[in-house]
Amino acid sequence: MSSSSAAWRIVIAGGGIAGLSLGLALAQALGAGVAITVCDPALNRDPSGDRRAYAIAAGARKMLQALGVWAGIEPGAQPILDMVITDSRVGDPVRPVFLTFAGEVEPGEPFAHMVESGALVAALAAACRAAGVDLRPAAVAGFALEAEAVRVELPEGAIDAHLLVAADGARSRLREMAAIGWIGWSYSQSGIVATIAHERDHEGRAVEHFLPSGPFALLPLAPGGALGHRTSIVWTEREENVPHLLALDPEDQRAEVERRFGLQLGAIALETPFRAHPLAFGIARRFCAERLALLGDAAHVIHPIAGQGLNLGLKDAAALAEAIVDAARLGLDPGGAEVLGTYERARRFDTFSMGVVTDGLNRLFSNDALPLRLLRDLGLGVVDRMPALKRFFIREAAGLSGEGPRLMRGEGL
Ligand SMILES: Cc1cc2nc3c(=O)[nH]c(=O)nc-3n(C[C@H](O)[C@H](O)[C@H](O)COP(=O)(O)OP(=O)(O)OC[C@H]3O[C@@H](n4cnc5c(N)ncnc54)[C@H](O)[C@@H]3O)c2cc1C
Repeated sequence: MSSSSAAWRIVIAGGGIAGLSLGLALAQALGAGVAITVCDPALNRDPSGDRRAYAIAAGARKMLQALGVWAGIEPGAQPILDMVITDSRVGDPVRPVFLTFAGEVEPGEPFAHMVESGALVAALAAACRAAGVDLRPAAVAGFALEAEAVRVELPEGAIDAHLLVAADGARSRLREMAAIGWIGWSYSQSGIVATIAHERDHEGRAVEHFLPSGPFALLPLAPGGALGHRTSIVWTEREENVPHLLALDPEDQRAEVERRFGLQLGAIALETPFRAHPLAFGIARRFCAERLALLGDAAHVIHPIAGQGLNLGLKDAAALAEAIVDAARLGLDPGGAEVLGTYERARRFDTFSMGVVTDGLNRLFSNDALPLRLLRDLGLGVVDRMPALKRFFIREAAGLSGEGPRLMRGEGL
């Protein structure tokens, strides 16, 4: 394979939000100097029906803005203007507020926005096409190392690349094929997700009720739906209770949500059926192998308690794009060991730290033992009275602490 910069080729297996963001960042920064192919059978499907919603933190929003896709997404995005944390049991008549956060992390910059997955995937795919990314609706079946290249197997035949990026999700087959180990455990919990319609405006408020079986999060969505206003719920529930909840008829499901959601936003209705995702923690032992980089959920899976999983994946994309672009501009091999080492150093420790924090939070709060409840409520109350500490937490969660990759600061590559 030629080593001229015009002939660099990178294949990204997985056209989820992490994979498409990386493809777009590389194509925009390197233009015709690099051939980018994103492969994913899901590229055949219209993503607009995917109503899952994610909290996109300020750092990730800046990245989407730098990539030119934010303006198209913003009209359907809901800024989180305010956050409230309570600690109670399902039947408690009152849910005392222990911690509040004002939503702006910088003037005019909300801590996070709620964005629907389908809208984000559609915007990224359209921008990739416009930037010349080769989008192929096909699965990568395998790969083999060659001299200075990796042969990537696709149904229509193999292609040689300088780098293969595995962005193929939590159950990454490519990670397995590369024999990269995985450290992880199940939480014996599932995240039940649904969109709720309600009568009153949520005013951009996100609420997290820490209930004994796990956190029950209410995340505000942009106006719409049958009753004019919508909220996405992420309900962490013990695994053994989930089959029963999924089997309930829609009215009983609505009643179960109402017991936890309350009536402060008026009457509620279920906009989408319950979907349950088994929850686990996991991190790859290495983020790279020869001519292979893991990206997004293929490299790490964390508890959704802090809404950070995809944000980590976007940070991976920003860091890997930066390492590749810096090398390619010097005429260096974008799949070489130096690029991959830079990427791994930038991301593995940060990811591990976030994983440990979310794991600890889930263990601390998915628990009904009285001494632990008293201790954590005391802790929340203390944090609530310390504005500097609250500022620190909110900047961490917004992805704005420390240096971070250039795209996450809203800068171009
Ligand atoms: C209940 C719940 C709530 C969450 N809420 C939040 C939140 O608010 N904020 C947040 O930041 N994160 C959140 N997350 C985490 C978030 O969902 C994931 O981190 C994110 O979707 C991962 O994106 P990805 O692009 O890495 O992988 P995926 O979205 O899994 O994409 C992987 C893609 O790879 C494709 N693929 C698989 N195999 C192959 C192959 N062999 N060849 C080619 N393509 C292949 C698949 O078709 C898929 O499109 C939540 C998770 C859960 C479970």
